[in-house]
Amino acid sequence: MSNRTKTALIIGGGPAGLEAAIKIGQAGYSVTLVEKEPVLGGTLRKLCSSFPRWENPQELIDFKLQQLDQLPVVRVMTDTVVNAAERRGDSFLVTLQGKEGSNQVDVDAVIIATGFELFDASVYGEYGYGTYPNVLNSLEFEEKLKEWTAAGDKPEALQTVAFFKCVGSRDRSKGYPYCSKICCMYAAKQAGLVKDLFPDSKCYVFYMDYRAAGKEYEEFVRSVIEQKHVRYVRGRPAKVIPEEGRLLIRAEDTLMGIPIEVTADVVVLANAIIPSSGTKEMAELFGIKTGKYGFLDSDSKSPLQAGDRVFFAGACGFAVESLGAQYQGAAAAAEVVALFNQAD
Ligand SMILES: Cc1cc2nc3c(=O)[nH]c(=O)nc-3n(C[C@H](O)[C@H](O)[C@H](O)COP(=O)(O)OP(=O)(O)OC[C@H]3O[C@@H](n4cnc5c(N)ncnc54)[C@H](O)[C@@H]3O)c2cc1C
Repeated sequence: MSNRTKTALIIGGGPAGLEAAIKIGQAGYSVTLVEKEPVLGGTLRKLCSSFPRWENPQELIDFKLQQLDQLPVVRVMTDTVVNAAERRGDSFLVTLQGKEGSNQVDVDAVIIATGFELFDASVYGEYGYGTYPNVLNSLEFEEKLKEWTAAGDKPEALQTVAFFKCVGSRDRSKGYPYCSKICCMYAAKQAGLVKDLFPDSKCYVFYMDYRAAGKEYEEFVRSVIEQKHVRYVRGRPAKVIPEEGRLLIRAEDTLMGIPIEVTADVVVLANAIIPSSGTKEMAELFGIKTGKYGFLDSDSKSPLQAGDRVFFAGACGFAVESLGAQYQGAAAAAEVVALFNQAD
């Protein structure tokens, strides 16, 4: 069989899946890229701006889509999911379900790039998520920022926004013990964007401690604090109470050792990152290992390999920023290309 006939199936068209599709396509192999949504781009498409360089995420997606357009070997199928997979020797017979019906494809390797979801913060009844309309999760707020930036149609009376970090992360009683890794960065970004849009507003970020380990990350957070004047308060808020159309936050400033109250117009929760439902489904379908919390797992010798001819990349493996997801997409693609080359 010639090199050219080998096909990789990539499931999920976010930054990780896009990068993997481009790299395998550029190596000359066929790719079927399946995305359940009508458009590609994953969560990145929903973001207003991207840390650590305040970039417009849509520009990166557009660039990736242009690269895909130049690769006739990559077949993109949006509005499509994988609903069956059968192992046949060194390949899989996979059933794809689209809006128009289903069809079957033979593929020689699979990369799962099905991303993440946000933890449901309604478990924290004291914060009122799902009850008070102005308590939002971080992606809902990102969409608001996007709307306000694009349309210039901003609410007039936005005086104060409060961000609560670690909602469901590093919390053994109501959430998960792990650190979700990206929340410190996106909370700083969102607070900085609020200050850009509403220079007279006040922004409070309630934190346990902040983690900014990454290239340009510490400088990014410091610039938000020092140049955009976002106030960081160390302490986990105890309660949100609706008060005359606004939200009263009771917390303790653990550095000062005093109880504090802040009245905000909007409370934004930085929810824990958890595996998406698609990630769980694909793990079951391909019979691969997941860790304790449902993220895809590997052995450390081949860190992106979840099974024979099954690889994964991006946030389906654990919380990761967009650049990290792209690195993993490229690395998983390298695994597939190496496998295809060896087989010939
Ligand atoms: C509020 C917030 C702000 C953020 N801000 C930043 C930022 O400023 N900078 C930054 O670098 N990162 C940021 N991130 C992180 C960024 O969103 C992720 O790093 C990135 O989206 C991960 O890419 P991914 O491809 O792994 O997953 P995703 O982007 O989640 O993409 C997964 C794709 O798989 C698809 N899918 C799922 N299941 C299936 C299935 N069964 N079949 C087919 N398709 C499926 C989904 O529809 C989706 O398109 C932020 C995250 C959040 C929550």
